[in-house]
Amino acid sequence: MVDQAFLSDHARSNDDRDPLRDFRDQFWIPRCQDSEGGAAGQEICYLVGNSLGLMPKQTADFVNAELEAWRREAVAAHFSGKHPWMPYHEFLTEPMAALVGALPSEVVMMNSLTANLHLALATFYRPVDNRHQILIEDHAFPSDHYAVESQIRWHDLDPAKSLIIAKADPSSGQFDIGKLFDLIEENRETLSVLVLPGVQYYTGQVFPIAEIVKHAHRWGIIVGIDLAHAAGNLELRLHDWDVDFAVWCTYKYLNSGPGSVAGFYVHERHAANQELPRLAGWWGHDKTTRFLMGTEFRPIATAEGWQLSNPPILSLAAIRSSLDIFQRAGGLKPLVEKSRRMNQYFREQLQQHCAGRIKILTPIGGGCQLSLRVEGPTGWGKRVKRELDLAGIETDWREPDVIRAAPVPLYNRFADIDYFVFHLRRILEQSAL
Ligand SMILES: *Cc1c(COP(=O)(O)O)cnc(C)c1O
Repeated sequence: MVDQAFLSDHARSNDDRDPLRDFRDQFWIPRCQDSEGGAAGQEICYLVGNSLGLMPKQTADFVNAELEAWRREAVAAHFSGKHPWMPYHEFLTEPMAALVGALPSEVVMMNSLTANLHLALATFYRPVDNRHQILIEDHAFPSDHYAVESQIRWHDLDPAKSLIIAKADPSSGQFDIGKLFDLIEENRETLSVLVLPGVQYYTGQVFPIAEIVKHAHRWGIIVGIDLAHAAGNLELRLHDWDVDFAVWCTYKYLNSGPGSVAGFYVHERHAANQELPRLAGWWGHDKTTRFLMGTEFRPIATAEGWQLSNPPILSLAAIRSSLDIFQRAGGLKPLVEKSRRMNQYFREQLQQHCAGRIKILTPIGGGCQLSLRVEGPTGWGKRVKRELDLAGIETDWREPDVIRAAPVPLYNRFADIDYFVFHLRRILEQSAL
């Protein structure tokens, strides 16, 4: 961003006074490769931390330390050094539990989000004659939809009967929570599990998890939450809200690298219940007897009892680095506070400069993300997105007409919002139809 013409005094002073401003420097900000738009070499205006969080500079050291341990010590590194591999995942448990509002015994880092969703459903979706349904939201993230539907089929049931889809309002794309509760109540005898998002990935709508759980538990319905877009973005209280299980990935707001290891939460009352059925692996077996290599599975009486395999240490090292940054930033409270102010500023700027041409789909009170519907004829939104790319702005495109932009408090500035809105306005006006 060499040319500063876009920058308002308001954004400048907000950035100057930002207590988190030094954190930006701890991340690698990619630079524009494409010279077409005249932006080559300048830092990208990166607004897709909701898709892939930026790489913390210190992550290379965290990962290299484990490569070094492998090089120098090989198998002995399971037990030696400051961060031995055998309990390596345990180093992540407390800081991650703090981020999602859980007890350490309720959280483990393992596998990927979708794999964890399957493992949770293997335990909690046990269809019996009348309780055979799973409820998800319409236009759920495809992986969640596939996972849930395949679970139903895998139990020899028919998704046409056993999958309930909560519909969004067709014009706003938002879910009316009152209607969701009505739907739950209508199906209270037959619903087994709800699988709902903390933050809906397409619209950015935040779901009132505590209320949903209260409602579902009245009828004995299990609640599982997908936190892909909520973890590291919102303050969560999984334990206090009494959520049954939750899953999340770590490469979005949690900045832990592409395909990094995911999070898994089960409430204490389930975590400690060794009688619960599950798909087992040796890493979930009681640590004191794991290496006796027996045949009788005795699960660890925490979320760790759902582990299958020994985990990929290099990925866990990247998560440890990321969690270290969240801790140094003071946890989610200051981050959420900044993201609220950025979000409000972002909305005001869009209202002021792009009203009528852009519709904000995200209800007020969301996290970092705004989902913007580009009003206009078919294909127009995609052209706008392409022009934004040329100006060195990285956003996320969702068919048919939605641009998602997420200023992230750890590394985005109010100046990024100015830059985005300045160019969006220019593009929309220049190409006025
Ligand atoms: C990003 C995302 C996923 C990704 O699933 P993986 O198993 O990590 O590939 C799943 N669900 C939602 C809602 C997401 O936003």
